[in-house]
Amino acid sequence: MAMTTGSERARATLAYLRRKITTGEWPVGSRIPIEPELAEQTGVGRSTVREAVRSLASVGMLETLPGRGTFVRSAAPTSTLLNEFLADFTLEEILSYRRALEIEAAQQATIHRTEEDLAALERAAAEEVGCTRCPVLGLATGGEDSAFDSKFHRLIFDSAKNRLLASLYAGINDQLRTPEHRGRLANVATGSEMERDHARVLDAIRRRDFIDAVHAMAEHVDHDVVIVTDQHQVIPPLTRTPEQQLRIDQVREAADVREASGAREAELREAEGRARA
Ligand SMILES: [Zn+2]
Repeated sequence: MAMTTGSERARATLAYLRRKITTGEWPVGSRIPIEPELAEQTGVGRSTVREAVRSLASVGMLETLPGRGTFVRSAAPTSTLLNEFLADFTLEEILSYRRALEIEAAQQATIHRTEEDLAALERAAAEEVGCTRCPVLGLATGGEDSAFDSKFHRLIFDSAKNRLLASLYAGINDQLRTPEHRGRLANVATGSEMERDHARVLDAIRRRDFIDAVHAMAEHVDHDVVIVTDQHQVIPPLTRTPEQQLRIDQVREAADVREASGAREAELREAEGRARA
C-alpha cells in the first residue's frame, strides 16, 4: 500500500485494527498482538500503532492493562455517556430506535459497502445460518461475555461507514443486554426465517438496492428481537394496520417471485454451462 503522509498512515492503521475487531478476527475478550508485531503487520512505526490503539481504547473497543497486554472489549464503539443517556428510556422506545438504526444502516451499506465488506458480510451470514441467535444470542444464553449482537448486523453498520450510527447501535445493544430489559425480550423467528431474512438483506446490499434493503431489514427487525409480555403476547417494535400489512405482504410476494425467477435463471445458466462443457 502506497502511503505518503503520516496522517494517511495513521488512518490506514486505525482502519486495519478496527476491521480486525469488527470482523471478529479478534473476538471480544481476546488479547491483540503486541505493538512490535502490529507494527510489522501494518508496516508503520510503533508510535503510529500506539496512537491507533489509544484511539480505539478511547471509544471502548480496546483496553490496555499494564503488564498484561491490550484486550478487545467491544466489537463496536461504545460510550458510557451514551449508555447513561439511553438508560432513561423505555424498552419500547429503545427497540423502536433500534429499528430506525438498523434500517438506516442497511440502506447506507448498499451505498458505501466495499467488496471487502461484502465478503465479510457473506462469511458472517454463512456462519450464522440456521441459528436463531440473531441477534439475541446473549439473551438466550446469558452471561456478560457472550456476544449479544450478531456479527452480521455489526458488519452492516461497519459497511455503512458512519461511526455515529455504529456507536449508537452499540449503545442500544448494551441497553438491551441489561438485566431489566433482557428478561422481557425474545426472538420470535425460527432459524430458517432468520436465514431467509439475512439472505434478503445481504442480497440487497450486494445489488446496492437501497429500496429492497429497507424493506428486507424492516421486516427482519419485526421479529428478530421483540418484547414479550407476561402473557406471552408479542409486541413488535412497530404495529401496522391490516391495510399496511397487506401492502407489506404484496411487496414480499413480489420479492418472492423475483427470487424464484432469479434462481431459475441461475439454474438454466448452470445447465447451459454443463451442456457446453
Ligand atoms: Zn438479523
